[in-house]
Amino acid sequence: GKVYIPLAENGDSEIAELSRSFNEMTAEIRRLDAAKKQVIADSAHELRTPVTLIRGMIEGMIDGVYPLDVSTLKSVHEETIRLSRLIDTLRELEVIESGELKLERDTVNLHEMTSKAMTLFAPSAAQKSISLVLKKCDTRAYEVWGDQFRLDEVLYNIISNAMKYTPAGGTIRIEELNEDDKNVGFSVGDSGPGIAVSERSRVFERFYRIDKSRSTESGGRGLGLAIASEIVKAHGGSIEIDASDLGGALFTVSLPRL
Ligand code: ADP
Repeated sequence: GKVYIPLAENGDSEIAELSRSFNEMTAEIRRLDAAKKQVIADSAHELRTPVTLIRGMIEGMIDGVYPLDVSTLKSVHEETIRLSRLIDTLRELEVIESGELKLERDTVNLHEMTSKAMTLFAPSAAQKSISLVLKKCDTRAYEVWGDQFRLDEVLYNIISNAMKYTPAGGTIRIEELNEDDKNVGFSVGDSGPGIAVSERSRVFERFYRIDKSRSTESGGRGLGLAIASEIVKAHGGSIEIDASDLGGALFTVSLPRL
């Protein structure tokens, strides 16, 4: 590939100052490039395993080695879920790399969004004995002009992180925010380990994960929040992290009201 020669950074002239920022930018570009290559290499490698297993099981059923029953099909199904997850990762990477996000805007009712999220996450919350609660806001219009699909993605990303990092028996609270005259939004608080102040801006960076082994184990690649923040920014909104009164992290998304 390309060879970057660092510029001289000595002294405190304007040139030295410029050189320093240029060198920092170059280092950042190289870090992102390496991380991207790693994700692509890992994904290609990880795609092979489920495909091999699915192929083996189907061939086994055709040849009569495996019984053609629900239990075999369940194993095939599990592997296809793993495949979809990997494909989602690659798609996210592509969206974020292309830099610009195209929004298909319409009236989005945030009440509907939070209710849908509750229905969607209730089964996995129950499975993990997590109490998932929704605190609804008043009846005032709770709408934005936005991309329904993308905004769902933001909310689901934040909730699935909360699910991932909150231990069994914990609590996740989704709260509708509708008091501001200019903005509407929602927050998701959890009783997990929380996010240290020093990490709060970094978790929105591409490929950034606080605990690498733990995140990889649960399928994370440090892209979920990067894409969520990209989507919120494209809507002219903001996304922030605080400490939740539940003991863990509190994510607050704010969007311009319709
Ligand atoms: P990942 O796919 O690794 O979860 P994300 O971009 O979604 O990537 O999140 C980046 C990192 O932020 C995670 O690896 C995790 O360390 C941290 N994080 C995100 N959400 C939470 C949360 N609710 N509680 C604690 N840590 C979190």
